[in-house]
Amino acid sequence: MQQRREKGLWNGGLVPYGYKNVDKKLEIDEKDAEGVKKIFQIFLETQSLAETRRRINQLGYKTRKGNIFCKGSIDNILRNPIYIGKIEHKGKLFDGIHKAIIPEAMFLKVQSLRRIQIRPETKIKRPFLLRGLLKCQECGSVMTPSYTLKQEKKGRRYIYYYRCTKTCKHDWQSCSIKYVNANRIEEFITKKLTNISKDESTIEKLVRRINQDEEQRLSPLREKEKHLQARIDEIDCKVKKLVSFLSESDDRLFPTVKKELSGLEQEKKILEFDLEGVRLSIQKESKEKFEAKIVLENLRNFIDRLQEIKDEEKPYLFQYLIKDIIYGKDEIGVNLFYLPNFRANLPKHRQSGGTARVTAGGEPVLPSFVPSYIGLKNRSRWLHNQNRFKLSPLFYLA
Ligand SMILES: [Zn+2]
Repeated sequence: MQQRREKGLWNGGLVPYGYKNVDKKLEIDEKDAEGVKKIFQIFLETQSLAETRRRINQLGYKTRKGNIFCKGSIDNILRNPIYIGKIEHKGKLFDGIHKAIIPEAMFLKVQSLRRIQIRPETKIKRPFLLRGLLKCQECGSVMTPSYTLKQEKKGRRYIYYYRCTKTCKHDWQSCSIKYVNANRIEEFITKKLTNISKDESTIEKLVRRINQDEEQRLSPLREKEKHLQARIDEIDCKVKKLVSFLSESDDRLFPTVKKELSGLEQEKKILEFDLEGVRLSIQKESKEKFEAKIVLENLRNFIDRLQEIKDEEKPYLFQYLIKDIIYGKDEIGVNLFYLPNFRANLPKHRQSGGTARVTAGGEPVLPSFVPSYIGLKNRSRWLHNQNRFKLSPLFYLA
């Protein structure tokens, strides 16, 4: 039997799906081979055994015995090297004499995907603190709670992730960020917020920069305002001169000077109209100045409260303080809400059907929407040594 295999011959037994037994040799069964190809294609597309099973059964394919496919039989097909023309023997692969159904590259890709099968969150009890907040910097997609089951000697272990949804909708290669370990990013964000809540000078610098940026944004309008006002003043001055000139000169000059005066008045009217418009825009565009004191209070209240509440309530508290978190390869940006009345408006938590709901006085709480941006750079450092991580404040206004 060993010899048969090492010569690349099929050793008999159950004929693999997609082949038929012709004189003790494997030959392709065209109809079932279509099913094999479909299974590989669907799995590559969906990266999910459950979804592959659903679709292949929907398409009407049946197993050799005429049954519908289960996840186990699909997984067996996906990892069987027989489909790339090989025969396995004692963990070694030998070239078979039968024809391949699947190209080797496709088979290898499926193997790599089978190893990192990250399943979407189902009935997992674990609260994902950053649910709905994480966004992938590379493609802008939301990063959604997911988990994978890792087979270990002691048994199976859950590993939790936030996964870029682009890799769910398209394929695994469609975004290079792919996923981030949930424990690690949650710990990181919590620690970072705790640290900066004690770091007055960093917050002050950050807020100053945001306010400066705001001023800068308005500066073209302010420039225009100044320019218009100057021209109006100039006209007023000219009018004054002309009027006094008029009172001292003789009547023959009257019509010319009057014409000039009316022209100036006309221009002034237009300028005043423009000025009014510019002032309105400034009023509309300018926001209240941020105060470092309030940002610090927000953070401290958040950290205090975080320690008091139950795990399953924590995601709601995160959503209250944080607008979003942009997760990139080299930096992580956090947009915080600016909440002048954080403690007064702090959401009350109540249990409802086992899950926490955030309400204040029965109303859903929506934080006043004033984003600021704190950039946390150098993720590679974070991965090895959190203490060496340097916070560098950036500024950003949506
Ligand atoms: Zn992405």
